[in-house]
Amino acid sequence: MAEILIKNLRKEFGSFTAVESSSFRIQDGEFFMLLGPSGCGKTTTLRMIAGLELPTSGSIYIDGEEVSQKRASQRDIAFVFQMFALYPHMNVRKNISYPLISQSVPRSEANEKVEEVARILGITELLDKRVGGLSGGDRQRVALGRAIVRDPKCFLMDEPLGALDAEFREYMAEELRALHNRMGATTVYVTHDQLEAMQMGDKIVVMNHGVIEQFGRPQDIYDKPATLFVAEFIGSPPMNFLRFEGALEAGAETVRMHHESLPVPVQREAFEGQMVYGVRPEHVRFSDTSRYRGEVLAVEYLGTTQIVTLHTPDGELKARVPSTQRVQPGEPVGLDFNGATVSLFDEQSGRALR
Ligand code: ATP
Repeated sequence: MAEILIKNLRKEFGSFTAVESSSFRIQDGEFFMLLGPSGCGKTTTLRMIAGLELPTSGSIYIDGEEVSQKRASQRDIAFVFQMFALYPHMNVRKNISYPLISQSVPRSEANEKVEEVARILGITELLDKRVGGLSGGDRQRVALGRAIVRDPKCFLMDEPLGALDAEFREYMAEELRALHNRMGATTVYVTHDQLEAMQMGDKIVVMNHGVIEQFGRPQDIYDKPATLFVAEFIGSPPMNFLRFEGALEAGAETVRMHHESLPVPVQREAFEGQMVYGVRPEHVRFSDTSRYRGEVLAVEYLGTTQIVTLHTPDGELKARVPSTQRVQPGEPVGLDFNGATVSLFDEQSGRALR
C-alpha cells in the first residue's frame, strides 16, 4: 500500500500548460478518481505519477520518498490501461503469470501467486482454459488478474472500462470496487465519466483545463460544488442555474431574485453583482403554499420519478419529483427551495458564495 503526495505538480508541453500547479494527497488504500472532460490533463497527471512523463516542476512523493525524477520501473506501481491486451492463444494461467515470468520470478513462486489471484477473482476453474474461448466478463477478470499479480504498492488505471458497453461497464466497475475492498491497494483511476467517479471513488479530484476545480469526497462535491464548472459537470440532469444581478449582506439567508426572495446557504460575506442560483432537480419541491410560481412546460416520465421542465420568472428549470404528483403542461405550480441544499455562485469568478 502507498500514500501519494502531489506538490505543486506542473507540466508544460512547449508553450502549452497541460497541468497547472496542482497539489493533493492520496491516502493509503484510497480509491482515488481523477475526473474531468477530455483534454483537462488527467492522463498527464497519472503519467507523471507513473513515471511515464517527467514533471516540468513540482514533486511526487510515494510513502514519503521523492520519486519525481525516478523512472517508472523504480516506482513499484502497476499501470492498467484498457483491460484488453491479453494473449488469446495462451491459457489463463500463462496470461496471468506473464508479468512475473518476464521479471524472472521462479516458476513455482509464480504459480502460487497465480493460484492466489485466481482465488480472489473467482476464476480458479478457468486457469487451464484458453483465453480466446472465454466470455467477455471472464476475460476482463483475467486481465485484472494480470494487473494485480505483481502485488504492486499502487495501481494506476486510465479509463480501464472505457471500451465496454454500458451494462458490462457497470458490472466491471462493481467488480473492480469489490476487488479493491478485498485488497486495499491504493488506486488512482482516470475517468471522464462523473457517474463512474461518484460510484467508485473514495475521493475525487475534478480537473478542467489543467486546473483542479475541487478535491473531496463524492458526497461533498455533489452537495457543495466549489465552482460552476463542478456543479454543471456532476449530476444528471445537471444542476439548474438561475442567473440574476443582486446584492447580499453578510449573514443573509435569502437573496432577492428578479421578483421574489429565495433561500440561500447562510452567507459569511457580503456580495454584489451577477450571481447564479444553483438548485439540483431533486431539490425542487412542489408546494401549493409557495409564492414562487412556475408554469409546467413538459413532463418526462421515468417510472417512480418524473422530470418536470418549468418556466419561472428567473429562467427555465427542471424538477425531479415523484410520478405520483400529477401535473400537466400549462399548469401553474408553486415551487419551494431549501437554503441548505442550494448553491450560490459569483458568475464572474465561477466560485461558490458561502
Ligand atoms: P483525454 O481523456 O482526452 O485523454 P485528458 O484529460 O487525459 O484527456 P491529457 O491527455 O492529460 O488530457 O492531455 C491534456 C492536454 O495536454 C491535451 O490538450 C493534450 O493535447 C496535451 N498533451 C498531452 N500529451 C501531450 C504531448 N506529449 N505533447 C503535447 N501535448 C500533449
